[in-house]
Amino acid sequence: MVTINLTLNNFSELPSLLSLFGSFDNDYEYTTRGVFRRKTPPVCPVCSTPMVHNGYNPYTKQDLGKISIGRYKCSNCGNTQEEDRSFWENLKTLLFDSFNNFFQMLRYHSVSYDGISDIMDFIYPRSRSTILRAFNEKMEQENIPSSENIRIVHYDEQHPKEGCCQKYRLTILDAKTQRTVADELFGDKSPETIKKFLRKNLDTSEPVFIVTDFDKRYPDVLREVFGEKLVHQYCLMHLNKLIVSDFSKKQRLNRNS
Ligand SMILES: [Zn+2]
Repeated sequence: MVTINLTLNNFSELPSLLSLFGSFDNDYEYTTRGVFRRKTPPVCPVCSTPMVHNGYNPYTKQDLGKISIGRYKCSNCGNTQEEDRSFWENLKTLLFDSFNNFFQMLRYHSVSYDGISDIMDFIYPRSRSTILRAFNEKMEQENIPSSENIRIVHYDEQHPKEGCCQKYRLTILDAKTQRTVADELFGDKSPETIKKFLRKNLDTSEPVFIVTDFDKRYPDVLREVFGEKLVHQYCLMHLNKLIVSDFSKKQRLNRNS
């Protein structure tokens, strides 16, 4: 096992030093001056003369830490070498990878890039653009399941009258086949009626992509019926209609005033 030369200054750091250098054997040491190197320098790769210790190169990662990596020099031919520092690079990779997982989780919960950057100020400052880049790189590596087999349907309601009786017509249309999946008249359109109608006409064990208008009850109703299998998309045509109707109301107000 690696020899760690402790001083009063680094005594408390022993656990982290051990986890950092734990994979190195007894040929290596961490000196009292904080240099990581081989106890006995290697032989020169050029002339095979045993090399000697020759100071160190410092490596710093801002706000993270600093490491001194031992250097060796051949007293015969002057060739110099540096100790392998891949463990330091791996450690940084490990840390930044865990940040990337963290970004991904926050994005999953709809935290904005600016929001993540603000949170990171408490941990390890990262700018919005750094987070955006890291997130995009991470997502490129993700294996996103193909959505080819996901059923896409449109759910809608109409309010026809039967005599003087108000009726509710619930409809499910299949986006791919352009066929009506279900079309029924009900005496009410309560959440319970909608749930029963959906359960009766769609396979709730399969992923489904449902397009609806902006009725406020739909998100809860759909989530209850389809759970994790659901992708709910608001219909942009209805959104457009809402905006346009809102706009015309305001216009009239302006004209009257
Ligand atoms: Zn040499």
